[in-house]
Amino acid sequence: MDDAKRVPVLSRRARAVAAAALLGATIAGLLAAVGFLEPEGLWETPKIAWAQPPESEEVSVVLRVARGGEPADALIEVFRGGELVGVEYTDVHTPGEARLSLSPGEYSLYVSQGAGFTMEPLRLDLVVDPGSETPRELSVELEKRFNPRREGYYGVDLHAHSEASAPAMERDFGIRDHGSTPVDQLVAVQRAADLDVMFLSDHNSVEGHRLFAQTAEARKLPYVLSEEVTTLKWGHFNPYSLEPGALVEYTPTKLPPEYFAEARAAGALIIQVNHPLDPGVGYFFAQNDPAYDPSFDVVEALNGPFDDGDFYTVERLFRLWNEGQRYVAVGVSDDHDWKDLAIRYGTPRTYVHVEGELTAERFLESLKAGRAFATYGPLVYVTANGRAIPGDTLTLSDSDSGSEGVRLEIRIESISPLDGLRAEIVRSGRRVAAFELSGHEEQIAWDDPETPQEGDGYVVRLVDAERRYRALTNPIWIGR
Ligand SMILES: [Zn+2]
Ligand SMILES: [Zn+2]
Repeated sequence: MDDAKRVPVLSRRARAVAAAALLGATIAGLLAAVGFLEPEGLWETPKIAWAQPPESEEVSVVLRVARGGEPADALIEVFRGGELVGVEYTDVHTPGEARLSLSPGEYSLYVSQGAGFTMEPLRLDLVVDPGSETPRELSVELEKRFNPRREGYYGVDLHAHSEASAPAMERDFGIRDHGSTPVDQLVAVQRAADLDVMFLSDHNSVEGHRLFAQTAEARKLPYVLSEEVTTLKWGHFNPYSLEPGALVEYTPTKLPPEYFAEARAAGALIIQVNHPLDPGVGYFFAQNDPAYDPSFDVVEALNGPFDDGDFYTVERLFRLWNEGQRYVAVGVSDDHDWKDLAIRYGTPRTYVHVEGELTAERFLESLKAGRAFATYGPLVYVTANGRAIPGDTLTLSDSDSGSEGVRLEIRIESISPLDGLRAEIVRSGRRVAAFELSGHEEQIAWDDPETPQEGDGYVVRLVDAERRYRALTNPIWIGR
């Protein structure tokens, strides 16, 4: 690795990100854990007092959120006495506006659009005071720190449930309370996570399709309709994009090739295998069954909070890639409940590179080609020889002086500090380089000292000391 060049770009002061794993912690614990103990600087913390109407216990507070002067969908985490006491969102039908009901007391509101990915939450300290005469309206302006759109990368959560999942799960499997997020509000929830393409996949149900599509269209947002085809024997699949209301019906006797054929007939360009190694519900456990159909396109490498299932799925993916099976790796939340932040919509997520104007069609084609990375937060932009990105095939030229080598250029941006993480370059399943990371932005340039073979693939992954993934790119393939 002597020829490796590593350029730390900046070491701005560590600031807060209210990471999902930290929810439920006290504010003090939260702030200490993320290194946010300095209130000065970018984070204004105005103290605002609210009048309490004499006839009411609770005070109604209107919070208006904007970004770049435009109304912005946002998540509002309400803390009182160091405890998370409420999870609110701006309303999808009145963009950028949230109505909160607060009883008198001291609060900290953490307001965000894309917390942990493109910005830190903005903290507002306020006192709801029964004796005060001040108005009960508040406006905040959010600022993005990082902007993947500028790089042509668009965020999506390719596995997201709504309340339409609940009746279907009760009907098919007798499982209750499986989904509480209102179909229409899911659009604001996904925008509050700073996702660019709206996505819906309910268990064996397409009941939410129409309302979800209408809501996204009213907000002029691209959207993709799916369904989590949920079986007892063959695992779970997300086919997309489905024609609105086109149900791929679950029956206990149907086999994978039948599900896949039905999904393709219903318009699906992509069939995604969900949590492939989750005990009891993973399709990869059926790989030796004669009915196993390998003609899917996308694999959930990272599903919800990182666990062993994700680790072994990525290991399996490396093996499949080495066998020449070019499945696309994605990260998804598999969230069901908007007010429960143990799992967050958009964490992890997938960023897909789209040339030109963003449309659902272009987005799906790019995703199918693997021009994407999965992440729990860090943004990872990789190019090979200045002309190939993940999903592309880099054709190396031969000349009199020998074969063209491979140079990877990696740029990383991260809201939470990168300290303790390593960027690893994996060539065809073998780790060939590793770099310790720190701060919030890094740049790495690396020349492969060896000559790659046709069919080799380069992957960049970010892992911590316990080998938990924070990000994973799709391979850049080598051609001749
Ligand atoms: Zn599932
Ligand atoms: Zn699911």
